[in-house]
Amino acid sequence: MDAKEQLRRYLEQRRDMGETELVLDGLTVDEALRILGAGPVTNKNTSATIDRREVPSSSPPIEREAPVGTTVDWRETLRAAGAGPGELMAAKPVKPIVPEEQVDATPSGLTVGTPSVELFGGPMALLDSLDKIAAHVASCTRCPLYSTATNPVPGEGNPNADFMCVGEAPGATEDETGRPFIGAAGQLLTKILSAIDLKREDVFICNVLKHRPPGNRNPRPEEVTACGPYLIKQIELIRPKVILALGTFAAQTLLDTKLSIGKLRGQVHRYYGVPLVVTYHPAALLRNPGWKRPTWEDVQLARRILDSAPSSGA
Ligand code: URA
Repeated sequence: MDAKEQLRRYLEQRRDMGETELVLDGLTVDEALRILGAGPVTNKNTSATIDRREVPSSSPPIEREAPVGTTVDWRETLRAAGAGPGELMAAKPVKPIVPEEQVDATPSGLTVGTPSVELFGGPMALLDSLDKIAAHVASCTRCPLYSTATNPVPGEGNPNADFMCVGEAPGATEDETGRPFIGAAGQLLTKILSAIDLKREDVFICNVLKHRPPGNRNPRPEEVTACGPYLIKQIELIRPKVILALGTFAAQTLLDTKLSIGKLRGQVHRYYGVPLVVTYHPAALLRNPGWKRPTWEDVQLARRILDSAPSSGA
């Protein structure tokens, strides 16, 4: 299959899933499809929700499309039609993301980032597997935490997980072993997952920070800034259908907000396009058993998102 055909199928798949933006190029999915000579929108959901942003005025009219059936590289086709200079994302089949507003009556929350955005230039762009990320983390000196930590804790689990748990930072046991969430809080997390029918090995578990802050002190903003790209890259590679943010720190960091966990719970937020649900940190639950009930509601919400997500596949 040539690149143009591959891109066309990819875009049609995204459109069928109700997505409208092709973020990097300042085009909607529909506009890109028209450039590629695809037929009119047939999906009624999409036509109802289509993003009517205007193409930048500097762009030539999108009707000046490349002739259908030519073998011109699709990147050239898009650039000729006024697409942005940024890297164009790989035209590969991806796991569908739950369309917004789809999960029962749960209100929509905050949105951070945009789906499928190319986040990093330079060496980070080369991190195209979780193993490479882990290796990079192991030799990372982007913040001073590497110098006080015993082991890096990049995260572990199913590289194709649909469900991803994100905590704050490794604690003492995690630092000793290089594995996330295996101390007392981790054991409770394992039980919480099992209550929604998930095994640890089914999901991917990691933290915002990949090295332990000494004495479990709170992560500092510059550490979050330094480490953040690894998490985003992990999410980009795994493409989970739902992210469960564990605790105030993970929730506020990922959602770039100071809102309390009480306010952030019970909504479906978006993190780079991925539905994100917030719940209490298992360590906090150990101290406050009264939070078990809301936690149960949160993880059930996350489970419903997972169950309602379109199934994976090309
Ligand atoms: N707390 C976290 O936030 N992460 C861990 O890995 C362990 C405890």
